[in-house]
Amino acid sequence: MINQHPQTIAIAGAGLLGRLLAWQLQKAGIQVTLFEAGSFTPDTPQSNRAAAFTAAGMVAPLSEAVVSDADVYRMGIYALQQWPAWLAQLPATDTPLFFNNGSLVVAHQQDTSELDQFARELGFVLPNCTGYQQLNQQEIHQLEPDLHSHFHRGLFLADEGHVNNREFLRLLGDEIIATGMNVRAHTPVDVFPGKILTESGAEHFDLVIDCRGLGAKKQLRNLRGVRGETLHVETKEIQLQRPVRLMHPRYQLYVVPKPNHRFIIGATQIESEDRSPVTIQSSLELSSALYTLSPAFAEARIIEMDTNLRPAFMDNLPKVAVQDGLITVNGLFRHGYLLAPAVVENVLAHILNKPEPIFSAQLNSH
Ligand SMILES: Cc1cc2nc3c(=O)[nH]c(=O)nc-3n(C[C@H](O)[C@H](O)[C@H](O)COP(=O)(O)OP(=O)(O)OC[C@H]3O[C@@H](n4cnc5c(N)ncnc54)[C@H](O)[C@@H]3O)c2cc1C
Repeated sequence: MINQHPQTIAIAGAGLLGRLLAWQLQKAGIQVTLFEAGSFTPDTPQSNRAAAFTAAGMVAPLSEAVVSDADVYRMGIYALQQWPAWLAQLPATDTPLFFNNGSLVVAHQQDTSELDQFARELGFVLPNCTGYQQLNQQEIHQLEPDLHSHFHRGLFLADEGHVNNREFLRLLGDEIIATGMNVRAHTPVDVFPGKILTESGAEHFDLVIDCRGLGAKKQLRNLRGVRGETLHVETKEIQLQRPVRLMHPRYQLYVVPKPNHRFIIGATQIESEDRSPVTIQSSLELSSALYTLSPAFAEARIIEMDTNLRPAFMDNLPKVAVQDGLITVNGLFRHGYLLAPAVVENVLAHILNKPEPIFSAQLNSH
């Protein structure tokens, strides 16, 4: 625990963690300087932007518990309360920033054993879990009338939500600039305890926080990038009220509805640090699976294809490492929006001498 608040903090990386921490620390009265290697408003996939811009923004503790563990689930449950509380601190906007209509998991008739397996795995990670409801064809139709009628079974996870993430990152960026924070875009940095090194030389701070995601790989040898590809489509032919996951023996696809008739379809998960554009194979898999959710997607227009790398440690779990003058936060993998509230609150509690947050045991690395 740091006894006195640091007066000056440098944050390296203005992706998800960097922006959230910069915002909250500046609000706590600390002088923050935020360094970003790329643009502060990266608008195109070509701009080498933060994984936070590529993400679908889902906050899905149950769906993700199946592929991770009970700690990730607990931190995700915390996120469902914390996101609305944070978003309420931003200036009001006409565009909703958080949706909490739950999510739907479906499988084609020949793959319904995947649904049973999903429920079994949930029961294994979270014994006595009651957070989902089995649905029949009619119940699926009531929830999502535009989905193809051939889905006979599904699972409804009522407590899941998603962040309108690009709009959120844009608004948070505006808010950060409005606070007068020193934001240094197009400034790649190296980090050291109490010191930031830019091309122009060294700058000193009471504390440095490393939020560079995969950009920290040179210093964090166990960090790796996991390639993820997404399609963005636009259509008025179909409406979805919530994210829909399609279980399939070879791949899993999700469709996340966003405002203005847009949908994000994702995501591949490939053990490769290749950031090159989406492959034909991935685009075929994503778009043909989308078409099987509803033929109405056939006329959707592809407005973007995006690729990025999820920053992950070997166990795919997040880590907060604390030393004198330097805090390193990384490894949010495919769970950035799910875990950021717990991880950020943990770091804030440490810096601002708040009572120990309940997640510290899970997060601190040595
Ligand atoms: C396809 C895909 C889908 C995803 N979907 C979801 C989802 O639905 N839900 C969910 O919870 N998570 C999702 N994620 C995961 C989420 O995006 C990441 O976990 C999260 O963005 C990690 O946050 P971060 O701040 O650590 O890194 P990032 O968001 O990647 O930010 C790192 C920042 O550091 C900057 N930087 C790098 N090097 C330097 C340097 N030397 N100097 C200065 N700045 C530097 C980068 O430019 C970047 O802006 C998804 C990820 C991908 C790729």
